[in-house]
Amino acid sequence: MRPFTYVRATDVRSALAAAGHDDSRYLGGGTNLLDLMKTGVEQPAQLVDVTRLPFSAVEERGGGIRIGATARNSDVANHALVRQRYPLLTQALVAGASAQLRNMATMGGNLMQRTRCPYFYDPTFPECNKRALGSGCGARLGYHRTHAILGASEHCIATHPSDMAVALVALEAVIQVMGARGPRGIPIADFYRLPGDTPHLDTNLEKGELITAIDLPLLSFAPRAHYLKVRDRQSYAFALVSVGAMLDIDENRRVRAARVALGGVAPKPWRVLEAERLLVGQPAEERAFQAAAARALQGARPNRDNAFKVELARRCVVRALATAAAVT
Ligand code: SF4
Repeated sequence: MRPFTYVRATDVRSALAAAGHDDSRYLGGGTNLLDLMKTGVEQPAQLVDVTRLPFSAVEERGGGIRIGATARNSDVANHALVRQRYPLLTQALVAGASAQLRNMATMGGNLMQRTRCPYFYDPTFPECNKRALGSGCGARLGYHRTHAILGASEHCIATHPSDMAVALVALEAVIQVMGARGPRGIPIADFYRLPGDTPHLDTNLEKGELITAIDLPLLSFAPRAHYLKVRDRQSYAFALVSVGAMLDIDENRRVRAARVALGGVAPKPWRVLEAERLLVGQPAEERAFQAAAARALQGARPNRDNAFKVELARRCVVRALATAAAVT
């Protein structure tokens, strides 16, 4: 491991100043970054610990809620406001990692976690454009059973690992950040990047920008939700496919509005707006859910070993919507 210096930020200004140095990384719970440092994938010269900054609260704001970036995943999952108003977020957080990791991981750190593609994680594999731009993509012709079927490029077919981010996309969260040019809010739809020909860049954060909070807008039908995660084992595994679904259903059992986002299938949490539109006005029943699921997977481009994800994702969309529709 490369030697590094450790700085504990006492306020935002000191955090931004420290992060202005070359090769600095913000340190939250460290549950992903430290693993990457041990293997040499990440080699920061300086860690800026932001866990003592006053950003751990969950509070009401403008009808919605604001979640501080240093709040721990388990605290947010169990918070009464989140459980009652945004159960999709609670379900997604609880589906992630293990209890020990959720106790340590922060909300900001969860947003910033990197793909679990095995070629990315192991520097003894020479080909990985995300780790070393221009080196190639070992997964395309190698092991890619768990990789993307939507939104990939010839340069990278990795999936985004976060369950929480899938829920945040469905909830239209806004990521609040602070940088050298002041604060700004980034709609989560604009936060993550597709790989294109720059697969080494995961987000649209500018250099040194610090995540301070996550805002969830008021959403009246957010309680009618379901997060479904399918994985190779029941716990402590990343999604092969996941679906975050929410439905607004009128008194005649017709869909007024819908939100559908997928995880485990694309380089970023994958919202399917066309499928949502297709549901509006339809009876909240299986035939409409089947049509929406087919639309959601219309652009899928699987590789040799992950074609099973297309049908799996279709079925997961149907089941997630049906389960959400049954919520009273
Ligand atoms: Fe690297 Fe992406 Fe290819 Fe995995 S899929 S080897 S992360 S370039």
